[in-house]
Amino acid sequence: MPVTDTIAAVATAYGRAGIGVVRVSGPETQQLAAALIGRVPIERQATLSEFRDGDGAVIDRGIAILFPAPRSYTGEDVLELQAHGGVALLRMLLRRCVELGARVAEPGEFTRRAFLNDKMDLAQAESVADLIDASSTDAVRSAQRSLAGEFSQRISTIREQLIEVRALFDAVLDVPEEEVELIDRYDVLAKLDSLRGDIATVSESATQGNLLREGVQVVLTGAPNVGKSSLMNRLAEEEVAIVTEVPGTTRDVLRRELVVSGLPLHVIDTAGLRESEDPVERIGVERSLRQIGQADIVLEVREAVNPTAAAADEVPLELRVDTNRIIVVNKIDLVGESARTAEEDGCETVWLSAKTGAGLDLLRQALLRASGREVTDEVPFMARERHIACLGRALGHVNRAKEEIERLELCAEELRLAQRDLSEITGEFTADDLLGEIFSRFCIGK
Ligand code: GDP
Repeated sequence: MPVTDTIAAVATAYGRAGIGVVRVSGPETQQLAAALIGRVPIERQATLSEFRDGDGAVIDRGIAILFPAPRSYTGEDVLELQAHGGVALLRMLLRRCVELGARVAEPGEFTRRAFLNDKMDLAQAESVADLIDASSTDAVRSAQRSLAGEFSQRISTIREQLIEVRALFDAVLDVPEEEVELIDRYDVLAKLDSLRGDIATVSESATQGNLLREGVQVVLTGAPNVGKSSLMNRLAEEEVAIVTEVPGTTRDVLRRELVVSGLPLHVIDTAGLRESEDPVERIGVERSLRQIGQADIVLEVREAVNPTAAAADEVPLELRVDTNRIIVVNKIDLVGESARTAEEDGCETVWLSAKTGAGLDLLRQALLRASGREVTDEVPFMARERHIACLGRALGHVNRAKEEIERLELCAEELRLAQRDLSEITGEFTADDLLGEIFSRFCIGK
């Protein structure tokens, strides 16, 4: 479907700021600029301008920059209007753009146009949103790498190798059976093995990138006063929770976002797991148990002073199967224990003190291990579940192609399917509804 209309949106965050940007893209952009500021700005030059309403009154004085097609973000004519960053003011400016023929853009519509105009492939377009949403330095670096096209480039290289192998088949599939020996099966098997290795390597990097994007769900359990809030404060290195002496301050489920060695942790502080007669507390316990069922990691906090008192707050046996549990024995400073870790029944136990900070690094390492995050010098590719699923399917097809090596047609078909899965990552082969889903999650103005 050809894009024919002109879109506009406030591209900066809602709220007060020094500068706010309204962005316009589409065929009517230059006429719109002429009507708004009295002339078409010189291309790619910051032009001090007066943005005027329909009566000629000045809405604001700011900078206008015109990026003519195709050398623009969307590949269309784009106008950026930098005004003062006030909510009402930017709304007036946007309204004026709409009066002059623009339509308010849908979420992600600028980037969708950039994708449709071949300014970037689908994996790069997705990394634009991931870069904006990145919650740690590592996540930013990882998204930058994918946005620069490195992830797409690796996928393309694998796809090209796949096409080379498929070309070998095409040459022999049309010839009579007796000449099929023309194909060197050992050569093909070696090439398929190398493809498998390459897909697996990219997939590992993508899985790490996805972890940086999604983070892990951590549920914190333990009796009141064992030091859960203090521990979170220590991990966050800032006062995010109110630490108090009164048991049961954390009455309900509390959420906190932390970043540990680049990995976002979505921490849920539960109301405790102790059986109670109080109906309100019982609801709290049920909710905590539900949270534990969905957690990637459960941190069970106990006190070194009285570790056996923790039994009532332990995660029930039936919930332990699928969760990574880490037991934290806090307040070692009170009993003169040293910070250490030990593994018991497949569950890591960390002795530490939230007060002195001793053992906190051990806990950080335990959290990284439990989440599967590998801290290496290499920045992973920012990737999504969708990409990892496509890579997994492609790998499955290459494996089946190997198994079917004696039946060339089946083998060739598996390789065709593998190529299709890889193409889905970069968007050469993508259903419209998937595009709709991807771009609708963007913020407006991007
Ligand atoms: P929560 O109810 O589990 O969140 O516990 P808090 O974090 O509110 O801590 C309860 C009390 O224990 C507070 O007085 C903290 O200062 C104290 N506390 C927490 N961690 C430690 C620790 O490692 N050592 C000592 N001595 N006191 C601690």
